[in-house]
Amino acid sequence: MEPSSNPRRAHVLVLPFPAQGHINPMLQFSKRLVSKGLKATLALTVYIAKSMHAGPSSSINLETISDGHDLGGLAEAESIQAYLTCFQTVGSRGLAELIRKLDRSGTPLDAVIYDGFLPWALDVAKQCDKLGVVFFTQTCAVNNIYYHVQRGLLPLPLSGSSVEVPGLPPLEPSETPSYICKLGTYPAFYDMVINQFMNVDEADYVLCDTFYELEKEVVEWMSANLWPLKTIGPTLPSLYLDKRLPDDTGYGINLFTPTTASTVSAWLSHHPPRSVVYVSFGSMADLEPSQFSELAHGLALAGHPFLWVVRSSEQHKLPRDLMDSIPSKEALVLPWCNQLEILASGSIGCFVTHCGLNSVIEAICLGVPMLAMPQWTDQGTNAKFVEDVWRVGVRARADEAGLVRREEVERRVREVVRGGKRGREMAESARAWMAAAKATISEG
Ligand code: UDP
Repeated sequence: MEPSSNPRRAHVLVLPFPAQGHINPMLQFSKRLVSKGLKATLALTVYIAKSMHAGPSSSINLETISDGHDLGGLAEAESIQAYLTCFQTVGSRGLAELIRKLDRSGTPLDAVIYDGFLPWALDVAKQCDKLGVVFFTQTCAVNNIYYHVQRGLLPLPLSGSSVEVPGLPPLEPSETPSYICKLGTYPAFYDMVINQFMNVDEADYVLCDTFYELEKEVVEWMSANLWPLKTIGPTLPSLYLDKRLPDDTGYGINLFTPTTASTVSAWLSHHPPRSVVYVSFGSMADLEPSQFSELAHGLALAGHPFLWVVRSSEQHKLPRDLMDSIPSKEALVLPWCNQLEILASGSIGCFVTHCGLNSVIEAICLGVPMLAMPQWTDQGTNAKFVEDVWRVGVRARADEAGLVRREEVERRVREVVRGGKRGREMAESARAWMAAAKATISEG
């Protein structure tokens, strides 16, 4: 038989957990699939679709499903547990309906690529006779820890001074994810991260938002012993890596209103290369007012200009008197920005970060050394790798009260920006990782 001149395009439905750090990598992966000839539909919750700021229209179709909280998402729910339970019930129905709707379209659906946080999506995909592809949005190191807990191979509570998980360096208990080392905090999120692995053996493919070079040992261990894992990162827009997708210059979906690029670049232009400290704790972290105060004083004492992203809902926690006393040329506070543009500007000498995986990978790919100030979830484990394994940053140490004091911020920021032996080593590692990240995503 003659091959069809117009072969049917494979069609995938991509379902992220409704948070900025999950939408970004899954949207980027979708763009890569489209560039290979597939059709991709991104399913967002009704609330996210209504409240987001979308960039210029992209090659991805957008559809919505309800999480049962169309007016306010997670913030509107009675509790995290109530939200997750409702999302599973209402979301499963909505997902099945969406799959049927797409099947009736010109391009029927082949596969559902779902966020590991939403394992019920695999059941729906199977009921609808589609391939089910799990997409893990955390590092393989973190996934491997959760896997061992879920299978009863890492008993909790942790005991002893060292945690041994195959494929990973020995970890101090405090270097495991917060849900593990501070057992009982956020029980609903604990269940969610552990339940990622309850049906993973039935998934047709397992994808992880990391890149091979970055996590070689654990990727090899997991691939040999668990499932043939595919590392699909780094998931930055193409402009920042291989430049093969000409229109892919940004993530394209913001859950917060970003400050205009010209305001930011005008402020940055007053400062020499690698002299500015960029501070951001991502889309969810909720710092105590006392931590805001210590951080602000530490930044001021370090004496470098700083650009600090503080979401509107958090700005009341800033120490007003201190902030008002710093000249505007020396400190810029923004509610949200285009983080990639800032990290790529060449002006940043230190990224003070909560170590959300996207922020860490962005800093690695753009060669910016970090001061790690992890807050919760997987961030402490990411921070351990940043300092000891990838050697692209240092960790700020908290005191017994869990607070990173101003003197520590001052000392560490100076260490990262001004260099010295350790600083030079970090800059060198950052450059080497940047090259490895680009090689990973480039042709061949
Ligand atoms: N981000 C941004 N503007 C900001 C702060 C963050 O665009 O002002 C982006 C950042 O580039 C990253 C994502 O938001 O892609 C945050 O994800 P991450 O995993 O770092 O942290 P989370 O928000 O999930 O804690």
